[in-house]
Amino acid sequence: MNFAATKSRKARKAHTCDECGRIIEPGESYHPTAGSWESDFFTIKACAHCNIFRKHINAADDCYFESYYGDASEWVANGYYSAGDLPGLPWAQRLGLFRMARQFERRWRDRNGALVPVPKDPDHPAETIEAAPTGAASVIQGEK
Ligand SMILES: [Zn+2]
Repeated sequence: MNFAATKSRKARKAHTCDECGRIIEPGESYHPTAGSWESDFFTIKACAHCNIFRKHINAADDCYFESYYGDASEWVANGYYSAGDLPGLPWAQRLGLFRMARQFERRWRDRNGALVPVPKDPDHPAETIEAAPTGAASVIQGEK
């Protein structure tokens, strides 16, 4: 039986995102998933950015479902947002995926090393998810 459950947690120590490989700093939210796939038990952690990115990929690519957890980097490396792989996808959606793929490759950091805003959740487009705290001061404030 295949199943998986993803939670939302606030990091109390540093974790590594199993999708993009970046360090999830204390105080950031992250998304641990535990599940079973073809009888193999697995656990993986995703940063807030990758958690949303996976939803965008899944909404656009019917083939992604089977590799939903842990394979965003493979999806990006293969350029599956291309018109050949996703025919009929509206250009704006394709452009959004392309931009997120570039940010994913930079581990969601801009040229100055700051985390970029978390992409909008395709299931809740009106919500804004806070960009993660990065400095020591924000870590202290976040750990009450
Ligand atoms: Zn990530």
